[in-house]
Amino acid sequence: MRAMSDQPSTYIEPFTLANNDSMVERQIALSGMQRLAELVIEATGDATVSLHFGADQQRFRVMQGTIAAPVIMRCERCLKLMSVEVVANVNVGLVKNHEQAENLPGQYEPLLLESDEPVSLTELVEDELILSLPIAPRHEIGAVCVSLDDYTAEDEPQEERENPFAALAALKKKH
Ligand SMILES: [Zn+2]
Repeated sequence: MRAMSDQPSTYIEPFTLANNDSMVERQIALSGMQRLAELVIEATGDATVSLHFGADQQRFRVMQGTIAAPVIMRCERCLKLMSVEVVANVNVGLVKNHEQAENLPGQYEPLLLESDEPVSLTELVEDELILSLPIAPRHEIGAVCVSLDDYTAEDEPQEERENPFAALAALKKKH
């Protein structure tokens, strides 16, 4: 079994990992995810990746687990900003062609990998997060969102501006 933690490379070989019944537990920086960044206000933290690669009882090779990431989105209830914990519940079947994809049991999302070339874990994680973004995030009753003006206020200390969650937490405590 390959010890992924020894290899900081973000490239993985899903079929090899599945054949070796492997866990991938990693923090992946959101800063490299341009497509995700275009869909949210801000994505600067890390995605927490916990994925098991293996074979199911019918010997379909699968990738299962969770990917969680904090992002800042616009609240559709008050139009201010809110932190959203995006959680992707991954239940993917690894396939090499369209025929395999069609034979895949319905509970799996097919992931088509036509070659054995390593794939970018960052891109894979980004795809799953984009699929799991809430379409219209809304704050819970009693929660407080942050106006864009407050969020980007020039007189805020640099540290707080770089950590919007600390700013959000501080704001919540005031109420
Ligand atoms: Zn709100």
